[in-house]
Amino acid sequence: MNKSFADIFSSCSWDETKESIYSKTAEDVKTALQKTKRNLEDFKALISPAAEPFLEQMALLSHQITRKRFGNTMQMFIPMYLSNECQNICTYCGFSLDNKMRRTTLTEKQILDEVAVIKSYGYDHLLLVTGEANKTVGVPYFEKALKLVKPHFSHISLEVQPLDQDEYETLIPHGLNTVLVYQETYHEENYKLHHPKGKKSNFLYRLETPDRLGKAGIYKIGLGVLIGLEDWRTDSFFTALHLDYLEKTYWQTKYSISFPRLRPYTGNLEPKVNMSDRELVQLICAYRIYNEEVELSMSTRESEKFRNNVVKLGITSMSAGSKTDPGGYAAGIEALEQFEISDERTPAEIACMLKEQGYEPVWKDWDRAYQFMEDL
Ligand code: SF4
Repeated sequence: MNKSFADIFSSCSWDETKESIYSKTAEDVKTALQKTKRNLEDFKALISPAAEPFLEQMALLSHQITRKRFGNTMQMFIPMYLSNECQNICTYCGFSLDNKMRRTTLTEKQILDEVAVIKSYGYDHLLLVTGEANKTVGVPYFEKALKLVKPHFSHISLEVQPLDQDEYETLIPHGLNTVLVYQETYHEENYKLHHPKGKKSNFLYRLETPDRLGKAGIYKIGLGVLIGLEDWRTDSFFTALHLDYLEKTYWQTKYSISFPRLRPYTGNLEPKVNMSDRELVQLICAYRIYNEEVELSMSTRESEKFRNNVVKLGITSMSAGSKTDPGGYAAGIEALEQFEISDERTPAEIACMLKEQGYEPVWKDWDRAYQFMEDL
């Protein structure tokens, strides 16, 4: 029988991992910084409290590595929320089933109206997002949506409920390039507290989703946890462990990491763990120093000031002008949003900010375009 990440994960202990991160010393951090190739123990050192005094050095190194690998470019993407219907209860999300708010799923016309506005911003990379409501927004709906939007975008990402391998195999030929599937937290016991009802409460099915995606031959997989639910250092280590396994097992697939921090939303859950801006910078730099290839993504959850400051520290893709409610771009539909946006600048304003910092916003995913040419 094929192994999956769940086999590796089952041999790990949350508490022992946490203890091992918190016991890293300044010497461990220095060793990690001096190496040319780092391993998971180095990553532990880089995210540990012992690395805090090395933040400047880490930021410089992270900047240099990113410039060398990715040049002065920033990939731009925008989410399109297709539906806010959801059959799950998640304690941290505005779309949670127990939020008695107006629900809506976009019709074909409404999708095309959204496309028109998004194209007018200049985007060529679209992220389609829904809540998890299999009956309303299942594979047939995704197929229809992909057929509608694919002619207008060269790269399509999807952030929806985890699917079976054959379902991904059905969607990929319709133009699906990337799937984002965040584990939310790798703390298995507390995962159940945050996801008390619905299919999402199945921790293992979610944990094995990147395996199913890898087997289906997806182009790119996005990983991450929701920062604020549990100890961010331990959760980030498990994300890196997951990434390490996936890169070795599905080496033809590309990977990206996001670092969403819990944001205000209707129903409001206070973060159990607060992560400071400095700590988020530390985490971004740690990922980059540990892994030179992985894409690091930053959404509009973060503030204008913070996003301006991290452009040079390792981030390689950014969203701008995002709406987190279905129909939010073409206006006219007032629907429940998933969380509040923090950076409300327009895509043009973000492009301007990037250029001022010496970066070129890239609206098209050239990697993907080249891949198509190789396939010819
Ligand atoms: S996080 Fe996803 S699954 Fe959970 S309530 Fe929100 S939309 Fe639904």
